[in-house]
Amino acid sequence: MATSREIHLAARPHGVPQPTDFALVEVEVPEPADGEVLIRNAYMSVDPSMRPRMNDVKSYLPPFQVGEAMSGGAVGQVVASRNDRVPVGSWVVNWLGWREFALSDGRGLMPVDPAIAPISTALGVLGMPGLTAWVGLLDIGRPEPGETVYVSGAAGAVGSLAGQIAKLKGCRVIGSAGSPEKVAWLQELGFDETFDYRQTDAREALRDGIDLYFDNVGGEALEVALSALRTHGRVVACGAISQYNATERPPGPRNMSYIVTKRLRIEGFIVIDHFDKFPAFLAEVGPWVRDGKVAYRETVVDGLERAPEALLGLLSGENIGKMLVKIGPDA
Ligand code: NDP
Repeated sequence: MATSREIHLAARPHGVPQPTDFALVEVEVPEPADGEVLIRNAYMSVDPSMRPRMNDVKSYLPPFQVGEAMSGGAVGQVVASRNDRVPVGSWVVNWLGWREFALSDGRGLMPVDPAIAPISTALGVLGMPGLTAWVGLLDIGRPEPGETVYVSGAAGAVGSLAGQIAKLKGCRVIGSAGSPEKVAWLQELGFDETFDYRQTDAREALRDGIDLYFDNVGGEALEVALSALRTHGRVVACGAISQYNATERPPGPRNMSYIVTKRLRIEGFIVIDHFDKFPAFLAEVGPWVRDGKVAYRETVVDGLERAPEALLGLLSGENIGKMLVKIGPDA
């Protein structure tokens, strides 16, 4: 009997997750029933939102359950199919990561053509994080040419694309990240100003003012940005990774009154509400990636057993660009 491996949530973390909060479990490879397909995953995505899902808190995605496999984006090849719409040999994005083999009823699968781009990009620059950057910046932020856009978490999967799109749309772009190596990459990408927020006072770095803040970090970074925003400035509230390990609800920014006095617009969004825009996103960003107008990086950790380490690494800033785990053969 063929077996495969998956990662279960073993315990709910308090604060920073520990390796013992995860369990590597061997399971039988399932047989697809009528309408189902079996996928051998090649890469799984590691996303910041997986940390809040380890808590027993209802949000836009359900919490992971203790004793059950975790889940998330993955890309893999169909190895057995009893579903006419998803043939054996095809490559698909699925939402059953954290496992080497995934059994799907076909719903929510997104086809991927390995001839167009490396399949890993379907989880990064041409996948959910890419769509997040594109929708967040353009639909929510609505930048105008000549405006100053500040992106925090700028060397990550979402931030690196958001900043590059802002440049392509004629904006002046400031990016912050947490290491000299990351900041050097932002400079290579053409960001106009960059700073390492661990070394530099963000208030000083933003002293000339900003029009739009693409917020991946929340907390202190948001407070500083509210001070730096000009009248009629906007905040794209994309994420708040500085707070995902918090054990108590953190205090809000102390300068919320700027929202009134500077007539600011702060708007949150969740990318899954915008999945219908995938074709339009790929039509614009796909050629940018193909023609080298947009660059991307991936940090790939090898082996499903190291997926917990990859998630902890993401939360402490070990990734440059998209954090992935390679868990099976590539295309
Ligand atoms: P990243 O690739 O940006 O990885 C996370 C990065 O966050 C780390 O590399 C680290 O970089 C940074 N970070 C971690 N802790 C802190 C901290 N305390 N302060 C500042 N930076 C920190 O992840 P993604 O691109 O996948 O996600 C970026 C953001 O977008 C997250 O907030 C995520 O939740 C959000 N998101 C929102 C979606 C939506 O639908 N609204 C969808 C997808 C993502 P560094 O070394 O620079 O600190």
